[in-house]
Amino acid sequence: MTKRIFRSICLVAITVFIASVILIFVVLHNYFSDVQRRQLWMQTNLAAQGVVNAGMDYFRGLEVSDYRITWIDAQGNVLYDSESDSLEMENHLEREEVKEAMKSGYGESRRYSPTLTERFLYAARRLPDGTVLRLSISQNSILALLFGMVQPLCVVFAVALVLSVILAVQVSKKIVQPLNEIDLDHPLLNEGYDELLPFLRRIDSQRRQLNLQRDKLLQKEEELNTIIGSMNEGMVLLNRKGKIISMNPTARRLLGVSWECVGLHMLSVSSNPDIQEILEKSLQGEAGERVIDLEGEKYQVDANPVIAERGVMGAALCFFNVTEKEKAEQMRREFTANVSHELKTPLHSISGYAELLKNDMVAVADVAPFAGKIYEEAQRMTQLVEDIISLSRLDEGAEGMPREKVELYSLAESVIRSLEPTAGAAHVSLALTGTPAEVEGIPQLLYSIVYNLCDNAIKYNCENGSVVIDVQSGEKEAVLSVSDTGIGIDAKHRDRIFERFYRVDRSRSKAVGGTGLGLSIVKHAVLVHNASLALASEVGKGTTVTVRFPMQEG
Ligand code: ADP
Repeated sequence: MTKRIFRSICLVAITVFIASVILIFVVLHNYFSDVQRRQLWMQTNLAAQGVVNAGMDYFRGLEVSDYRITWIDAQGNVLYDSESDSLEMENHLEREEVKEAMKSGYGESRRYSPTLTERFLYAARRLPDGTVLRLSISQNSILALLFGMVQPLCVVFAVALVLSVILAVQVSKKIVQPLNEIDLDHPLLNEGYDELLPFLRRIDSQRRQLNLQRDKLLQKEEELNTIIGSMNEGMVLLNRKGKIISMNPTARRLLGVSWECVGLHMLSVSSNPDIQEILEKSLQGEAGERVIDLEGEKYQVDANPVIAERGVMGAALCFFNVTEKEKAEQMRREFTANVSHELKTPLHSISGYAELLKNDMVAVADVAPFAGKIYEEAQRMTQLVEDIISLSRLDEGAEGMPREKVELYSLAESVIRSLEPTAGAAHVSLALTGTPAEVEGIPQLLYSIVYNLCDNAIKYNCENGSVVIDVQSGEKEAVLSVSDTGIGIDAKHRDRIFERFYRVDRSRSKAVGGTGLGLSIVKHAVLVHNASLALASEVGKGTTVTVRFPMQEG
């Protein structure tokens, strides 16, 4: 800007100077022309007076250098010319100044002489005898005068130029100084040019807006960082070259990154080939996913391209813990396989017996036992299907099953009543002790808890063994326990017996009509009631299963 102002000032100064010089030249030229014209008029008058007095003698010995004198008779013939032979000269009657002098007594004209390549000023006076005396002078003399002034003018120009440069430097610095000193952090506190005030106000309002937007952006960034930072899922954002833009703490933990990794290539952080493969694809615009093992757990890694108007801008890697999902999937697969297996065995038996009966290959005496076998297997299948239905209901959280107040002691009594025949057949005694205890729950599920525990206590009991159901009501909880004097459960099986289809002794379970689902149903039903389950057992001595129901407040 200083340079521009400097250049402008210099340009203005030079232009003004040149214009002044031209103007002066024009004015001087006009002035000198006027002076020359008046002098010519005077000289013509004086010469005319001389010629009137002396006639042709006036010209004798006359020395004129600047002027040219011509005497012309009334017919236009040249009588005398100071520079040419009068006899050789053409008639001058048609010359403008001569014509005018003939008419009015005095005439003037300016003409360019092609022969002398000069511009001349002519003045003519008519003499009393009708002749005309004409004087002319070259106008080049004025130009010569003016050219004589060029040299001093050049000196003046040089001095003016130097002064202009010095002044321009000073002035431009002075003009720019307040602009250079503007404090853009506090635009309205500046004292400078009034003309700048609208700009400063604008800058101030834009600064405020920018600050506001920056604060908003920072807040959003903070929010985003907090969200990403507190996510249980790992998240890595990468630019289009695969370099890390951000990595949340979960991703750091999973990838074992303890150092600052922003700006590094993903390759230098993780060499997992699966991650590399889906990352490369995502940077080419193709989403991908892989399940990989990290920290002993299963993680699903999703790689998605970040696509903007200009194409792929980067990629986002998300790490989801799918261990539970995988386990559930595994369990479902195992459950389906187990169900198929459990159903296949009784179905084979039923179809085998039925085939023998159909082909009349059974002795009449054996028909009844065979039919009994078919009935038994069908019962086992019915039991299995019922258990599966109960379990799938429990898997859905026992939705739609109404809750109500249930008295556990009476419930245990009804269980004992229905299991008495089974207990009798197994030579096991059943007893109920304790006090009435009311809990809020789903009657069918509470019944199946007591029934299954009691059923197991009979099934896995010894000859002449006993089963005791005890119900106690406390302030904070109602406690139901089923103790038996049976075979007991080895410690290594205790955690697993609640799994679906897990049996300690498969053949014994089958022999006593077990489906392997009883304790699973108990476990789920207990969960639905927010109750807790405890198992104490000693091999050869017996087992006690205790269920604690929390009392509803109020
Ligand atoms: P099942 O239909 O085979 O009885 P459960 O899920 O009810 O299936 O029980 C799983 C396994 O736990 C049984 O097969 C049995 O081996 C063991 N078990 C359950 N209750 C008892 C108990 N009271 N005493 C000894 N073993 C038991």
